[in-house]
Amino acid sequence: MINFNHTIQERKDLLGKVHQALEHFYAETKKYPVAKEWNIGEVKDYARQFPFDKKEDSTDVVLKVIKGLEKYAVHSSHPGYMGLFNPRANFPSILADFISAVLNPQLAAWSHSPYANEIERFVIQEFGKKFRYDSDSIDGTFCAGGAESNLTSVLAALNFYFPDFAKDGVFGLSKKPIIYCSTESHHSIAKAAKITGLGNDAVVSIPVGENLEMDIQLLKQQIEKDLESGFQPMMIVATAGTTGAGAIDNLEEISVIAKQNNLWFHVDAAYGGGVVVASQFLKWMKGIEKSDSITIDLHKWFSVPMGTSLFLTSNKKILHQTFKISTNYMPEDGDPNKIIDPYIHSIQWSRRFIGLKIYLPLAVFGWKGYEEVITHQVEMGNVLRGLLKENGWQIDNDSLLPIVCFSHSDFKNDNAFVKKIAEEISVSGRAWISVYPIHGKNTLRACITNYNTTKEDLKDFVQLLNTYKEKYNHAFECS
Ligand SMILES: *Cc1c(COP(=O)(O)O)cnc(C)c1O
Repeated sequence: MINFNHTIQERKDLLGKVHQALEHFYAETKKYPVAKEWNIGEVKDYARQFPFDKKEDSTDVVLKVIKGLEKYAVHSSHPGYMGLFNPRANFPSILADFISAVLNPQLAAWSHSPYANEIERFVIQEFGKKFRYDSDSIDGTFCAGGAESNLTSVLAALNFYFPDFAKDGVFGLSKKPIIYCSTESHHSIAKAAKITGLGNDAVVSIPVGENLEMDIQLLKQQIEKDLESGFQPMMIVATAGTTGAGAIDNLEEISVIAKQNNLWFHVDAAYGGGVVVASQFLKWMKGIEKSDSITIDLHKWFSVPMGTSLFLTSNKKILHQTFKISTNYMPEDGDPNKIIDPYIHSIQWSRRFIGLKIYLPLAVFGWKGYEEVITHQVEMGNVLRGLLKENGWQIDNDSLLPIVCFSHSDFKNDNAFVKKIAEEISVSGRAWISVYPIHGKNTLRACITNYNTTKEDLKDFVQLLNTYKEKYNHAFECS
């Protein structure tokens, strides 16, 4: 029979070569282009080069795959990547992924992986405390991403509001439940409404003010209007750090409205929640401790590999009520006061050891280490704002977070032009930025997502921007 394990010597040789290739990328990331323009046919061919109809040499296959991943991808590990919260992974978290793959603990049931489960319970408890939940009421579950965490929040709200929801589903609803969020909130809320069977129309997007935060007056009016129309207001989703421009909704005021109307109050802090590790920034999250649940993505500001998010709740009963199931093939339930079986406490069933990816770096660096890294990135955001202004660019958002939306009077937020400049910069391989419309006008958006980004990198970046701007000023004059 084929040797699925490989021999000891083969493993050693292969790991050595993989290590060498990966080390080159990890150590010299800056020498790789951040992004490139790809030929679709070439990528498709590369992905289909091993047709599975014969044996291949493992070293050859593995090294070619690494090469493909290096060549055909946007590298969020690069300090010039200033994109969509995708981080460079720190080293302990990378080891965590590797260790999990080798030992492969099954996280569905406590009894299959007690130590791994207790690590996750411990991390959930400690994160709950960071968000200043009362320590007796903290619960939560690891998720694959913010979308799953947000979906969990909608399910939790449904089960909280409609105690028979688990049994009757949407057919038991006498009134249409309404979810409130702002027009700047993440689209995973709308997706959650689709998945739960409520449908897109159950989500009411409240307009934002000049500062891009949810308009509280309009929220109040909308709730009243919906009550009069016979709908059932159910939950408010506030965003603490919007994906586009880093706005933080007024959590304190929203918590009051949620309480007055008995609504589930969820805070989507997928990215912005990272600031809770730094005491000086804690005040930006004021009011989050009054929430019923929180989404915090660790694969964003906590710099760990993809597939690591946390759903936290201050309602100890709700996950059990929402996901409880009984089977005749899973191990018997333990005492729920002592242990928790994830498969009856969350969406996933069989799953990997997600929590190790944050436990290892926290154990190694401590909260203090994270505080330093996150403070550095906030500072780099301020440095970037300063450099842009010095060079005649204007800042179009006033986020506290290192998300900078900017434009230049030379091209007056010309929507097509802003897009073109972002594309060209990304294709240059030296930086990657995106475009985000603010009050209908496109701006360039740069977010410091990488703990390695330095002031020098930012100077190079602004230099690059200036070069492209000049190039186009010149093109305009000639045309
Ligand atoms: C990124 C993001 C999400 C979605 O999280 P994923 O991890 O990509 O699934 C949800 N909400 C906000 C505010 C985000 O920034």
